[in-house]
Amino acid sequence: MAVYTLPELPYSPGALEPHYSGEIVALHHDKHHAAYVKGANDTLDAMAAARAAGDFATINMLSRSFAFHVSGHVLHSIFWTNMSPDGGGRPEGDLADAITEHFGSFEAMQAQLTAVTVNVQGIGWGALTWEPVSSRLVIEQIHDHQGNVGTGSVPLLVIDSWEHAYYLQYKNVKADFVKAFWNITNWPDVADRFATARAVPPTV
Ligand code: MN
Repeated sequence: MAVYTLPELPYSPGALEPHYSGEIVALHHDKHHAAYVKGANDTLDAMAAARAAGDFATINMLSRSFAFHVSGHVLHSIFWTNMSPDGGGRPEGDLADAITEHFGSFEAMQAQLTAVTVNVQGIGWGALTWEPVSSRLVIEQIHDHQGNVGTGSVPLLVIDSWEHAYYLQYKNVKADFVKAFWNITNWPDVADRFATARAVPPTV
């Protein structure tokens, strides 16, 4: 039985144009994201089979596969809701205050998140996350879907830096994709995620 399911897009695929093409959104959601959901479910099944057989010869591969696929599912699910046809502008309220407190200014945060996303080497993501041990916002550069992150950090705003995320529209100019992303950023969604994350007590 499937543990993970592909969420519906919160808008029609073409709704984010001209900033993000409907062709990319449809492929990205229906093919790429769907593959991560299937991969996570398949890997759980393979782990159960390994336990049943008492054969853990492939457990390292399965462990990596699970981290990769479930993290891909999580990041893409957040990514879709982080964008809106009515997006753009700036955050307000507590999120705006926290960004100023932890980064100095909105512009400084935006510049750092842009830089980590554009400068991903190979495949990865840029992410604004809530780091619950120090109770602060931080920016992380995620490798693949699951590497180079602090354990416990909660992603609030994520930007896909894989070539499949932008190449059909922006070709090799990833910076233009990230620039366009800021026109469709759904700050109310990021603020909701921030409020939820901040309400959870630190793990250590
Ligand atoms: Mn992607």
